[in-house]
Amino acid sequence: MKKYNVSEQGYYGSFGGAYVPEILFNNVEELKNSYLKVIQTEKFQNEFQGLLRDYVGRPTPLFHAKNLSEQFNTTIFLKREDLNHTGAHKINNAIGQILLAKELGKTRIIAETGAGQHGVAAATVCALMGMKCVVYMGETDIVRQAPNVARMKMLGATVVPVLSGNKTLKDATNEAIRDWINNPESTYYLIGSVVGPHPYPDMVAGFQSVISKEIKAQLKTALGKENPDYVVACVGGGSNAAGAFYHFLYNEDVKLIGVEAAGKGIHSGHTAATLSVGSAGIIHGSKTILMQNEDGQITEPYSISAGLDYPGIGPVHAYLNEVRRADYISVTDVEALEAAIDLTKKEGIIPALESAHALAALGKLKFKKNEVVILNLSGRGDKDLETYTNYLNKINYAKQN
Ligand SMILES: *Cc1c(COP(=O)(O)O)cnc(C)c1O
Repeated sequence: MKKYNVSEQGYYGSFGGAYVPEILFNNVEELKNSYLKVIQTEKFQNEFQGLLRDYVGRPTPLFHAKNLSEQFNTTIFLKREDLNHTGAHKINNAIGQILLAKELGKTRIIAETGAGQHGVAAATVCALMGMKCVVYMGETDIVRQAPNVARMKMLGATVVPVLSGNKTLKDATNEAIRDWINNPESTYYLIGSVVGPHPYPDMVAGFQSVISKEIKAQLKTALGKENPDYVVACVGGGSNAAGAFYHFLYNEDVKLIGVEAAGKGIHSGHTAATLSVGSAGIIHGSKTILMQNEDGQITEPYSISAGLDYPGIGPVHAYLNEVRRADYISVTDVEALEAAIDLTKKEGIIPALESAHALAALGKLKFKKNEVVILNLSGRGDKDLETYTNYLNKINYAKQN
């Protein structure tokens, strides 16, 4: 049987591993040797499950979206990660990692953020646990995700603007790693996606796997069977997709679809569709597929969606793509904006711009009438209202003139 989980050494096929500077070697080793042991204890599980239930609000609903189903002539369920406390799936992982950090005796938390959802999740769990929190965020993202910056500050986090590169997620991650190198003893790096050195990708996927665990139970109740025909999720680093795919990986008849951000088009030079234009290399501590030029310099990514604006992808997705267990497609800015407007009108749900990429993929897949499609609605759109409003004004203006 094929193996889709991480190997003992931290690899998915040839992808993954832990490529870190020597000064971080002990931190990564400590984490690698302790994470499974700690997570499997009854004490950890009681605390983790308790907080997911009472603080995050899990299980999140699985909603049969009848109007959307009619539009695409199939049966579509939305997994409502947008209803989590703080508005996205990121909190599942943040809760897990803060409990681990506490267990390891760390007192200071650092995090990177793009859309600000992970920064908010990290700041939230730090407030809850009384820990110091420093969030690195690119200046471009600080401007386009202002509501989340205000939330992080109110929660007591220090938000450090990052001015290098495109001033987006990649640059914020570089700065967080730099901080970690300077403070290896006291500091725990709370990574927001299935990226970074082993064991982060496996650990984050494990914490997010609650999504697919719930989907199975909820489908069983709704339809009398655990497995859908499709699971569709957007992919930035790939954590909500990894969580939504997790318990279906070995059910080979379930089609897994990851949706990347094409930006202005995959051949436009303004894209974040890593698997379409990338090649193998090392980024942020792991071997994966990334966007780079002929000299191996990382190419600046672009997407209207801050949470998908990243030039790499989690090693698990590089592998699932290589062995064809999952299919990855891409969706442009405009397609995502249209899908967000569409869902809002049809179902009364304003999705995050990231999740809107997954929604736009529905029009590109060919469903049969009786197929069951799970769409992981990774987050809510409050943070993106300004972008939506600007787009609506623009198309209304174009219509009038
Ligand atoms: C951060 C974010 C994403 C992208 O991150 P993944 O690790 O790929 O899940 C997607 N949707 C929302 C709402 C986000 O906040």
